[in-house]
Amino acid sequence: MKAALKQLALRGLTAPPLYGLLRMRALAGDPATILCYHTLRPDAEPLDAWIVLRLSDFRAQIDALREGYDIVSLDAALAPASAGARPRLVLTFDDGERGLYDHLLPVIAAEDLPVTIYVATAQIETGIPYWFDRVMNALQGTGTTRIDMSAEGLGAWTVGPGRGKPRWSQIGPILEALKAAPPAEHDRLADDIVAQAGPVAQAITPLQPMTLQQLKELAASPHVTIGAHSHGHELLDQISLPEARASIARSRELLQGWTGQPIRHFAYPNGNYTPDLMAILADLGFASATILEDRLVRAGDPEQALPRIGMGRYDPLPRFRLRLVGI
Ligand SMILES: [Zn+2]
Repeated sequence: MKAALKQLALRGLTAPPLYGLLRMRALAGDPATILCYHTLRPDAEPLDAWIVLRLSDFRAQIDALREGYDIVSLDAALAPASAGARPRLVLTFDDGERGLYDHLLPVIAAEDLPVTIYVATAQIETGIPYWFDRVMNALQGTGTTRIDMSAEGLGAWTVGPGRGKPRWSQIGPILEALKAAPPAEHDRLADDIVAQAGPVAQAITPLQPMTLQQLKELAASPHVTIGAHSHGHELLDQISLPEARASIARSRELLQGWTGQPIRHFAYPNGNYTPDLMAILADLGFASATILEDRLVRAGDPEQALPRIGMGRYDPLPRFRLRLVGI
């Protein structure tokens, strides 16, 4: 009953007369919209992770966006809007997961779609997925997995059985608990969870970083702007300012060397930022830095903390459309 009511409300809000008003209100003053995605998989390769969008959902979202926005590069969105132009929207992708090469690159080439990809560089160098990707990989499938981290003071969880959104709602709290642990412990704790989970019984295409060659090919696309996302994907407000500065600068230096392009944009890992970090980004000469906050970019927002709306696997199209208008 509750679900049915929710569906009814969603349908009402996204029907033409009301949605048109909501859209007009949201887009008054010509704000820019920046969306934050992570990666894509074909529908036949299920991965229960908020960051993994089904390819068919992504295509449907692009079709919906084309009706009401000009999808532009980040630089175009930051430049003054030309009079009479349609609302501007930017597609950004965080981290540098391999699905961007395998599945996003063909779409943007075919659809003439500008995108910005923020790459964290350590995983590209080592080929080893970050700790949170390793944990998500370990907890896939349909079976039941018991994870006991109580000896570490983190608690115990059961994941499964079954897959889909319920499974993700069991995986999410484990990731959040690890994020709250000291940064130096993340890898060790993740390895413990991977060992407890054992091998995944079902065939999955695990989350993994792009290779350096794939990153170079992606960067060579005229549709792609590469931005930096730190070196080790550290949550930058959890480490010292000199460490944060070194991580930011190293990711830019490596990306500039790999791509032969100036790297002018940055995204804070997990969206975690502080005024001190904003000052570092400005001092290093970045043209912009993006955070995660469910609202549109308004005149007066500082370039070093531009809001982005995070889009994930479990937003059906009506929900996606409502999030675009700030609901
Ligand atoms: Zn990230």
